[in-house]
Amino acid sequence: MLNIPHSYTGNGFTNVDFDKQGRQLGFVSIPHSPNGDAWGVTQVPIAVIANGEGPTVVIEGGNHGDEYEGPITIGELARDLDPATIQGRLILMPANNVHAVMAATRTSPVDGLNFNRIWPGNAMGSITEQIAAYVTHRIFPMADAFLDLHSGGSSLDILPSAIIEPTNDVELHRRNVAAVEAFDAPYTVVIANMGDQRTATATACAAGLITVGTEMRGRGTVSLDALEICRRGVRNVLAHLGVMEGTPPRDAGADRQILELSGAAAYVYAPTDGVFEPFHQLGERVSAGQPAGRVRRIWDLTAEPVTVHYGIDGIVYGQRHPGRVSLGNCCVVVASPYGRVAP
Ligand code: CA
Repeated sequence: MLNIPHSYTGNGFTNVDFDKQGRQLGFVSIPHSPNGDAWGVTQVPIAVIANGEGPTVVIEGGNHGDEYEGPITIGELARDLDPATIQGRLILMPANNVHAVMAATRTSPVDGLNFNRIWPGNAMGSITEQIAAYVTHRIFPMADAFLDLHSGGSSLDILPSAIIEPTNDVELHRRNVAAVEAFDAPYTVVIANMGDQRTATATACAAGLITVGTEMRGRGTVSLDALEICRRGVRNVLAHLGVMEGTPPRDAGADRQILELSGAAAYVYAPTDGVFEPFHQLGERVSAGQPAGRVRRIWDLTAEPVTVHYGIDGIVYGQRHPGRVSLGNCCVVVASPYGRVAP
């Protein structure tokens, strides 16, 4: 299962000392030589908070640049957490796709790449690939657990949820489910990204780390309820892992139904350009074959609206935020009961 080489061969460097106790705030710097800067660097923010003996937990935010609850939560921990209150080490990276974070875009404006589709990265690649390679080969080998804090981004609104990354490693799966349930989000969802292994969480699982994801609403804004869920959930997981004092809610996970995005049937795509008119709200129960909405070409009276249908029974888990859609855009996502019984 451990298919990640534990050696970093790139040119990235950092001004934090991973072996030092206490709090350090700094940067991972990746040499970057664009048109206006001959010998500059891309600076990726990082904090290390270490005290005594205990697990090392890496928390990532800003994997996509238009998702904010995670970066805010990580920033609060980095600045405000008293190192004396933890046992172990936190490596906090609130804005890993830093050019996208500064531009408030999903993908990097520097190389156009989606940071969550290029893992495990490439130390000889473009900036986005180099940042991922640094995390994979320099950060992950030090870590016991990885939290990747996403939201829906500008194009989606998603029910606040903690995410299980599927893995064929049965023991790791069991530990992942326990950690994700400790987060105690309103929903717990298995998301396989249609089997795509080029994500941060798939790479963390391949490296053997206990892995927790989130989806904290979206719409390209900060959601009050999701931010509070995120703050509490991260602390719950850190307590579960033994890094922080406290215990997760006693009933965390009790009677919790685990949902999943079950392959292509979970997604409703726009069949044409137009404006998507949804028929249901987030959280509503829907069934396969039921009309999900209409795509209307509002600029063409001769074009009939096109009805789209759900592909599976479940609840409306995610919904497109901008009304305007293009052919192939994701309009609705349905979460259904998880097929496999969690160990
Ligand atoms: Ca995301």
